[in-house]
Amino acid sequence: MNEPHIPATLQAAIIHYADPKNCMELLIWKRWRDTGVTCPTCGSTKVKFMEKHQRWQCSTHHPLRQFSIKTGTIFEDSPLGLDKWLPAMWLITNAKNGISSWEIHRALGVSQKTAWFMLHRIRLTHQGKDSGKLGGHIEVDETFIGGKARNMHASKRANNPFEKAVVMGVLKRGGEVRATVVQNREKSTLQPIVEKHVRKGSNVYTDELISYWGLDEKFAHQVINHAEKYVDGNIHTNGLENFWSLLKRTLKGTYISVEPFHLFRYLDEQMFRYNNRKHADGELMNDAERFDLAVAGIVGKRIMYKQLTGKTEGATEPF
Ligand SMILES: [Zn+2]
Repeated sequence: MNEPHIPATLQAAIIHYADPKNCMELLIWKRWRDTGVTCPTCGSTKVKFMEKHQRWQCSTHHPLRQFSIKTGTIFEDSPLGLDKWLPAMWLITNAKNGISSWEIHRALGVSQKTAWFMLHRIRLTHQGKDSGKLGGHIEVDETFIGGKARNMHASKRANNPFEKAVVMGVLKRGGEVRATVVQNREKSTLQPIVEKHVRKGSNVYTDELISYWGLDEKFAHQVINHAEKYVDGNIHTNGLENFWSLLKRTLKGTYISVEPFHLFRYLDEQMFRYNNRKHADGELMNDAERFDLAVAGIVGKRIMYKQLTGKTEGATEPF
């Protein structure tokens, strides 16, 4: 089996993936290039392709013997063609400030509601893999997203679902960012996250928030006092500030209202683009390469997808 051709531009991708054969070829390669086509239910490779139905049938007798290229992927049970799915993946994976369901609706001719679900499914391919602890020069910071809780009375704030969410980030300078939604800015919340993601003894830079006091027991901790200045030689959190501004531009400019429950999905999306902006050698990554990486993440995300729809109250998937 030859490695499939990945088009270089969106325009070429739309033309290329209009042919179902090219979609099949790409997904077979991504899923089964080492093993050959495998039954998602029992793992057998004794499967027969039924040309007419564009499905395989497993030779072992068990329920769900027949499966399609979509079975076991984020595309499962979707009647939408891959000629829509793959260009949608291309668009969201490469749009620096994200892309709204309205834009997908207009660009690809699916309903806005359908586009909303497509984008959430595609964000599952953006979830990072656990690549161990980060070392070197690490910036740690948190930011508030959404709401206008700052001017709100505390009693009112407690009942407000659109209260500002707190997002905490850990960034290796010149490398990876990891951001996560946290409940509050307490020491007992923030410091375990630093310990989870950062190798002992690394250089850690934070602002003067009291919750970071004591990090110097495990790290070479240096503090920038933002009341005085933003940079003191090596001591700053500018890398994370930059990531926060990209994130906020995406959330405010493109997605406008994001429910707190879904916020982590938008973080996944923004981190995916940020963490895949360059190759390990510093060379910029191109759109085709980022798309290729996202497609590699389509498998094994089905359960999480069910959680997505399960927790979306009142929303039923329109396709
Ligand atoms: Zn089987």
